[in-house]
Amino acid sequence: MTKFQDLGLKEEILKGIREMGFDEAFPIQEAVIPVLLSGRDVVGQAHTGSGKTAAFALSMLQEIQPKKGIQGLIMAPTRELAMQISGEIKKFGKYTGIRVATVYGGQGMGLQLDALDRGVEIVVATPGRLIDHLKRGSIELGDITHIVLDEADTMLDMGFIDDIQFILDLAPEDRVMSLFSATMPTTILRLSEEYLKNPKQFLLDADDLSGEGIDQAFLVIKDRDKMKYLIDFIKPVKGQIIVFCSTKYRTRDVAKFLHQEKFDAVAIEGDMSQSRREQSMSKFRSGKVDILVATDVASRGIDVPRVELVVNYDVPNQEMVYFHRIGRTARAGAKGRAITLVSYSSVGDWNLVKRQIKVELTDLNKEMGIEISIPDPLKRQVPSRRYGGSSSRSGGYSRGRSGGYGRSGGYGGSSRGDARDDRSGGRKKYGDRGGRNSYGGRSRW
Ligand code: ADP
Ligand code: MG
Repeated sequence: MTKFQDLGLKEEILKGIREMGFDEAFPIQEAVIPVLLSGRDVVGQAHTGSGKTAAFALSMLQEIQPKKGIQGLIMAPTRELAMQISGEIKKFGKYTGIRVATVYGGQGMGLQLDALDRGVEIVVATPGRLIDHLKRGSIELGDITHIVLDEADTMLDMGFIDDIQFILDLAPEDRVMSLFSATMPTTILRLSEEYLKNPKQFLLDADDLSGEGIDQAFLVIKDRDKMKYLIDFIKPVKGQIIVFCSTKYRTRDVAKFLHQEKFDAVAIEGDMSQSRREQSMSKFRSGKVDILVATDVASRGIDVPRVELVVNYDVPNQEMVYFHRIGRTARAGAKGRAITLVSYSSVGDWNLVKRQIKVELTDLNKEMGIEISIPDPLKRQVPSRRYGGSSSRSGGYSRGRSGGYGRSGGYGGSSRGDARDDRSGGRKKYGDRGGRNSYGGRSRW
């Protein structure tokens, strides 16, 4: 293990690191920091909770000069993640004199403009609001030397790619750029070549999306029984819990139910006002409340070390999402648990997720003696065709693999509009964004 001082970081930064209680560099930090400091582009893929933030943040702090304009730009898919990254950079950079502004939708422009007016060297942003600032001239990218896309596979995904392209076109060609995520599908790696120059790729445990340190279980039950079992699972838990639901509506419903059952829970989903979102997150982060019920808005990047259990109240709509969701537990080498509740109609989707899981899963139906009585779809078909070939695919649980950008690509928009409360639609044009961030207003989460 490498000590941070062996990575050549300045004393001011080392002081910040010490104050955070970090002792040794994690593997991704040890690997990536020297390369970024040498000025080479990087693709950094490593497990959830493995310390990717510090890998890019420390390199950036080392290279950036105080009072010389905005030199560092970090983009993240959600407001809460952007805020979290800023918070972490401020702690690392406490003694460097480097200032950070967070730019995201849902917050009035005033606060952000004030911060920018005072002068900053690093901007952490969600793409939509950054574009608003670029258009009104309150942020200029001419002095940028370092760019990071955190959760890069999402950032280069359909919903964001136009925004990212627009932003990168305004930044100098001569820059160090890096991409980070726990998941880096080959389609995205290929696409990244358009933006990076001869990047050094760190694909740590690339094949192993198993969720190391996470004890994973599943239970197949009727949808209407989920609430009852949810209570059974969360009751004995001492630490914090995140419950992920497939839609905003279900998120609100589950939170309401938990309140009725006298659990202290907060919710976060994209239709809530920004101040309520922040209120929920701050109650959860501070440990005032132990249960967060969330859409996938909280599935990526959010780091709350006390999270001990993740419940997938609904099966996630993409294999990748599963690993990001469960990765909210077992942070920084800790242990955690994940339970997925699978309704009968999601068995096919769950099987697709399950195929990607490389570790042993606990089958709670077996363990708890709960029988599955899924009606056989073949028996429901009118027996008009011989050979029983009445399309078990369309009538059954498997939705199959759609071509192109569906599940088979692993990425892109959902191939299942029903399972996802996606009202923002797919690709957006700059002209009709109406000042809204892709995830502001009516977001897909
Ligand atoms: P990732 O982005 O890889 O999911 P984060 O950057 O959010 O992970 O880091 C996960 C947790 O690990 C955070 O709480 C962070 O403060 C902590 N952490 C990061 N690096 C170190 C380190 N070198 N030593 C101890 N804790 C660390
Ligand atoms: Mg991260």
